Amino acid sequence: MKLVSTVVPIYFEEEMIGELYRRLKGALVALGDGFDHEILFVNDGSTDDSLPRLRVLADADPRVRVIDLSRNFGHQLAITAGIDAASGDAVVVIDGDLQDPPEVIAEMVGKWQEGYGVVYGQRRSRAGESALKRVTARWFYRLLNSLSDTPLPLDTGDFRLMDRAVVDALCSMREEARYMRGMVSWLGFKQYALPYDRDARFAGTTKYTLSRMLRLATNGVTSFSARPLTLMIDFGVLVTLAALAVLVWAVVMRIARPDAVVQGWASTMVIVLFLGGVQLISLGVLGVYVGRVFMESKRRPLYVVSGRYGFTDHNAPQPCPHCGRPVRENGR
Ligand code: UDP
Ligand code: MG
Repeated sequence: MKLVSTVVPIYFEEEMIGELYRRLKGALVALGDGFDHEILFVNDGSTDDSLPRLRVLADADPRVRVIDLSRNFGHQLAITAGIDAASGDAVVVIDGDLQDPPEVIAEMVGKWQEGYGVVYGQRRSRAGESALKRVTARWFYRLLNSLSDTPLPLDTGDFRLMDRAVVDALCSMREEARYMRGMVSWLGFKQYALPYDRDARFAGTTKYTLSRMLRLATNGVTSFSARPLTLMIDFGVLVTLAALAVLVWAVVMRIARPDAVVQGWASTMVIVLFLGGVQLISLGVLGVYVGRVFMESKRRPLYVVSGRYGFTDHNAPQPCPHCGRPVRENGR
């Protein structure tokens, strides 16, 4: 009997919980005799009725567990908390808004049984999402891929199934800036892209504001690539060469047309402003990477758990098999 764990991050999704549980449970039961399941809900600091409703589920169904984080840590860390606490032979991560159809899990499990370590959902279509979201998502993944040293699959969110071996390796990666989909592709293993149609949200609105998307994008780029830093050097070299050319031109003009030298206020201003801009941008890029080092060097817990419901001793969080530390209590 194989155990399939499902990790579901929840952030202000109260109107969703009932329907979510019904569909997820149906899909997991439909996996058939060879499979047992557990559902791990991670309440990412929602203060609406989400947590009470989840606790009711945990009381009624011994296969439901709830992890309550002490505040909102963000989608990627909520997923991390759930994966850390999962004890399955395979772990499926799925959004809590029914945009990822639970029925696709059966296909994922099928591919896993064929021997794939990771089966990730690749969006064939996205219903009910704004044109802005589609366009930014589309370009973001392409830009990231061109910058990143690790090839990252296109149009892929966090909806995926991972084998236990992959999960254990993932648990040993305790970096602070987490871009989970990139970390999983970095891991390697046999990966399979499963096309699916992304539904519209069942209820509620997206929790990814523009600023959250930008933060995720920055995390994605800076965790997987030092290219922005080398681009700064390339650009600096280019500007220096241009400056040398202007210098030569100025000297030539001075000798050839001594009467025409006092001009060029506009060109001076343009050059000064341009260089100022380039320097500020470069400093900013540098700052982002330095800030990253600063944050990582604190080695704080990745998240803080304030309550666990539906766990028994048997499936209580275990020490990380890689580093041996009791990571799963506080996320380190
Ligand atoms: N979510 C979370 N913490 C957050 C933001 C979102 O746990 O800070 C959850 C949310 O409840 C949902 C999933 O992450 O289950 C995806 O969020 P959302 O649907 O808002 O993102 P989108 O699908 O628009 O990218
Ligand atoms: Mg969504």
